[in-house]
Amino acid sequence: MIATYPFSAVVGLDDLKLALVLNAVSPRVGGVLVRGEKGTAKSTIVRALAAQLPSVDVVAGCRFACDPAAPDPDCPDGPHDPGEHRHRRPASLVELPVGASEDRLVGSLDVERALTEGVKAFEPGLLAGAHRGVLYVDEVNLLHDHLVDLLLDAAALGTCYVEREGVSVRHAARFLLVGTMNPEEGELRPQLLDRFGLTVEVKASRDPDERAEVVRRRMAYDASPEEFVARWTAQESALGERILRARALLRGGVALPDTRLLQIAAVCAGFEVDGLRADLVTANAAMAHAAWQGRDRVTEEDVRVAARLSLPHRRRRDPFDAPGLDEDLLEELLDRHRGDDDPDGGGTPDTPPDGPGSQPDQGEAGPTPDPGPNSQLDRGETGHNSQLDQGEAGPTPDPGPNSQLDQRGAADQEEGGDDSLGGVTAVAGVGAPYRVPVMKVPGLGAGASGRRSRARTPRGRATGARVPHGKVKDLHLPATLLAAAPYQKERGRTGAGLLLRGGDLREVVREGRESNLVLFVVDASGSMAARRRMTAVKTAVLSLLLDAYQRRDKVGLVTFRGRGAEVALPPTSSVEAGAARLRSLPTGGRTPLAEGLARAAEVLRVERMRDPDRRPLVVVVTDGRATAGGDVDAAAGLLRGVACVVVDCESGPVRLGLAVRLAARLAAEVVTLDDLGTVVREHRKAS
Ligand SMILES: [Zn+2]
Repeated sequence: MIATYPFSAVVGLDDLKLALVLNAVSPRVGGVLVRGEKGTAKSTIVRALAAQLPSVDVVAGCRFACDPAAPDPDCPDGPHDPGEHRHRRPASLVELPVGASEDRLVGSLDVERALTEGVKAFEPGLLAGAHRGVLYVDEVNLLHDHLVDLLLDAAALGTCYVEREGVSVRHAARFLLVGTMNPEEGELRPQLLDRFGLTVEVKASRDPDERAEVVRRRMAYDASPEEFVARWTAQESALGERILRARALLRGGVALPDTRLLQIAAVCAGFEVDGLRADLVTANAAMAHAAWQGRDRVTEEDVRVAARLSLPHRRRRDPFDAPGLDEDLLEELLDRHRGDDDPDGGGTPDTPPDGPGSQPDQGEAGPTPDPGPNSQLDRGETGHNSQLDQGEAGPTPDPGPNSQLDQRGAADQEEGGDDSLGGVTAVAGVGAPYRVPVMKVPGLGAGASGRRSRARTPRGRATGARVPHGKVKDLHLPATLLAAAPYQKERGRTGAGLLLRGGDLREVVREGRESNLVLFVVDASGSMAARRRMTAVKTAVLSLLLDAYQRRDKVGLVTFRGRGAEVALPPTSSVEAGAARLRSLPTGGRTPLAEGLARAAEVLRVERMRDPDRRPLVVVVTDGRATAGGDVDAAAGLLRGVACVVVDCESGPVRLGLAVRLAARLAAEVVTLDDLGTVVREHRKAS
């Protein structure tokens, strides 16, 4: 086995190191989510931390890592006698691969043996392995939905519970959850986000010296791991001792004065976090930090450090908000709720650079700081409903600094006038998203589970029974009994109880919802801009994107204007990327509609190879007025058999009905921009 890279030898990444250390000091901090680009040594540092965790005593032979001092009363390998053999081993580090099966995660219970032999045979899964150690999930955002559910249950209860047809097993599963994710590849569900105590953004350093040092150390390690590790022994043992000292301090009691607790509560309230979990995590992290600093009393600095790590992912936010925490707001909240009866109160080392009142547009009365030029979108933090209200209340809000540009550009632009080459282009602003009607792919799919179209899924409503392909997991008891009943005499049954054979077993067929690929094909030509519709169009697409995010769809964006079409966003699960592309999408020029459709067909062709079970839904957003490019009929033919919706953007007194004609060619449903905002109904493809 190769020696683990030393924790102390990791260059930079101070926030991440601190977050991990706080968790090592106090399991109550509740894990770390590491967000950032690939190739930033995330997994190296997590492994390094696991090696720093204190060793654990376990009951010898127990596959569930029972503590001899307090064995799990439900342990499937128990009950354990107090005198049983024990041994000491390092805390475990278990990696959960994103493609793991349910059995691999929670363990498997052999229903067949339970029914036919009456034996409760349980094979422990990764959760059992992670008990009293670290469960590491690389790319946690790519984890399958139902694994996420199982993980959430286990993390919330500290227990792994497996049940198959009334046969159940339960064992303790308490672990430090560390996940990594690249936000470009899709966000996490809020419930899962909330499960991580702390979150850290990680970026590779831009400092040449630091980067060089990273490479130097890495090369030295790769050349001779043992030698490299030996050079860091002193630092590593100092770190280990400091963690142990901090743990001892914490056990002895770190004081959390009322003033500091109130400060924590005020900060959490100020950032509008949901629930009280944030307060609890922040308090625990502040106490762990105090202990780490060798103090037995929480100071404002501890609160500051804890809040910076515990709040960013808990702010109520839209997927369109930028990550991170508003540090100015944090300083202001700390400042305002400092309390004056605490000795350490005012004397914090770094006074905020912006004292209260130094911001010109900040009214004295208003407790809410001005969120800045992007306020409309930032206000996602006030919740979805308020956005809905805003959306319905009146004219589309026009937030960004680009709005002037939009109007000027639109005014200059005559319909179909300019070619894109030197033509006038503009960037329209985006309004607050609203709730849109559900659009579904007709028929019954078999794609990854989600919340859009009907599909055969492992979860969901039972609709029938079938002979299982492999091992039965989801037993259909009545169907199993019916299958066994005719053979009882033949099998020599005399007394009570059915005689079952493996071949009698039937499993449940279920129907639920799948997620889809929603591909937006957006007309960004001059005819759309001329009518000043582009802001409304962008807002509608943003709303549809948000809807797709909530339904766990993959999304893609094709735009067409001027001389051709482009893939503004290749299919991805990251709705942030889609929103960003949309925001900066320029408008103007002619309308090459056929190119847009053809490009969409090409995207679908590639995606079908990559992800064949995921059914597409194409949403064409246009006024249907093709002023350039190839034959629309031929291009529409490329999308034959694909579920389509046309969002008709035509407005004004004289209507040509071109989008409606396009819809007929695509056998698509037509929805107007107004419909999107007001009507809630199910989409059905015309056949
Ligand atoms: Zn045990």
